[in-house]
Amino acid sequence: MRRQRNAKIIATLGPASSDMQTIRALFEAGSDVFRFNFSHGTHADHKARYDIVRQIERDLQRPIAVMADLQGPKLRVGQIAGGRAMLAAGSEFTLDQDTAPGNSERVCLPHPELFAAIAVGQSLLLDDGKLRLQVTASDGMKIRTRVVTGGMLSDRKGVNVPDAVLPIPVLTAKDRIDLEFALSLGVEWVALSFVQRPADLHEARALVGDRARLMTKLEKPQAMEHLDEIVRLSDAVMVARGDLGVELPPECVPGAQKRILRACRLHGKPSVVATQMLESMIASPTPTRAEASDVASAVYDGVDAVMLSAESASGAYPVQAVTIMHRIIVEVERDPFYRKLIDAQHEQPLPTRDDAICSALRSVTEIVGAVATVTYTTSGHTSLRAARERPTAPILSITPNLATARMLALVWGVHSTVSPDVSSVVEMVSVATVIAQREGFALPGDQLAITAGMPFGRPGSTNLLRIAEVPSEPATALGAAALDAVLIPM
Ligand code: PGA
Ligand code: MN
Repeated sequence: MRRQRNAKIIATLGPASSDMQTIRALFEAGSDVFRFNFSHGTHADHKARYDIVRQIERDLQRPIAVMADLQGPKLRVGQIAGGRAMLAAGSEFTLDQDTAPGNSERVCLPHPELFAAIAVGQSLLLDDGKLRLQVTASDGMKIRTRVVTGGMLSDRKGVNVPDAVLPIPVLTAKDRIDLEFALSLGVEWVALSFVQRPADLHEARALVGDRARLMTKLEKPQAMEHLDEIVRLSDAVMVARGDLGVELPPECVPGAQKRILRACRLHGKPSVVATQMLESMIASPTPTRAEASDVASAVYDGVDAVMLSAESASGAYPVQAVTIMHRIIVEVERDPFYRKLIDAQHEQPLPTRDDAICSALRSVTEIVGAVATVTYTTSGHTSLRAARERPTAPILSITPNLATARMLALVWGVHSTVSPDVSSVVEMVSVATVIAQREGFALPGDQLAITAGMPFGRPGSTNLLRIAEVPSEPATALGAAALDAVLIPM
């Protein structure tokens, strides 16, 4: 089973997508990665969905990536008497540490570490930015504010603090428990919410180690100020436009999105554009024109993956949303203008052997019209560097490591397969030609551009580029039994 596109699709699983039939339909419609949102659901819910995803992987023999998205330090106000209160514009409103239910004059802010960090003149945004408060005084115990934009405030609504770097860790106590649980399931990607500073990545990396890859959710203006370093320290970055669009004025989000995608391409890190991509499809079987255009422009900008949240997790049309996303991507990638834009964003190779080989891979592919670029990889690094080149033919990635194959499902243009290490150049070519034919990339007489490292099977040794023609006879160097063993069953 082969997808006819380069950009990938992430679908969030939730109440609307928890049974085998729906999750399988999402995969078949085009979802390459499944996101588990740890802001919702129990561990038992997540485990049940995880087991279904792995069963689909076994049934269809295609590696699927799973991403655990941790809630992170999302700030919320406390309870309000009667569930809600009206905040009038121009009135005074106080946030304090008294757990008594709030009213139209005050509410508890159950995050004591914040009180010292907030300064006069800064803004507090409530309920996804619907209400805006301006700080008039802060004494470490109470934050006094004036209501700039009023409205109804209900229990436990979210609080965003766009102007301050908050002295809070990137992982809460709940996140640490969720993280250990997600790692025990075996997820490939862990998404970190509300990353504020580069040090947050060091903190998370120390906990995760090499058990999963880290995706930074870019949703704080402060993180934008350290964009380059944060991208460098992350394994992938998500433009988390929900919270980013609360903390930044809406007119600043498109530019931020483009800057993040450029930084990711420069560093060869996968990028994701998320939130409200097909929002109206939560309740409607077709998207708005503006939504179609939003998905398309992320693809024209070279994004690795576009993401669905409520559309697939709790909406009425989860499979239709993935189907539409798939069709938009295919249509964009068919446009000759797409290739021009992708090439215009091309970044120079670094002065390393891997990049030299991957750059050559790209030009060889174009010159000889190869039908696929084949990358032998252990850690996934070579396939990532090849994807950074955005070659004109799909990247057929071959790895002995199932976790690597799954992780790469997120990456632009990569089709992953799992196969034992080869031990000679002859075997390397034979295995590549067999897999390319079996996976629907090549026919006899087609050209393949193949990279690998010698000595074989040692990570970080990529130094070989080979152009091979797919023979009309099945690979002779491999015996018939070896031919069957070329792909390791999942
Ligand atoms: P969330 O993250 O949906 O978990 O808040 C994405 C975003 O903020 O856009
Ligand atoms: Mn968010």
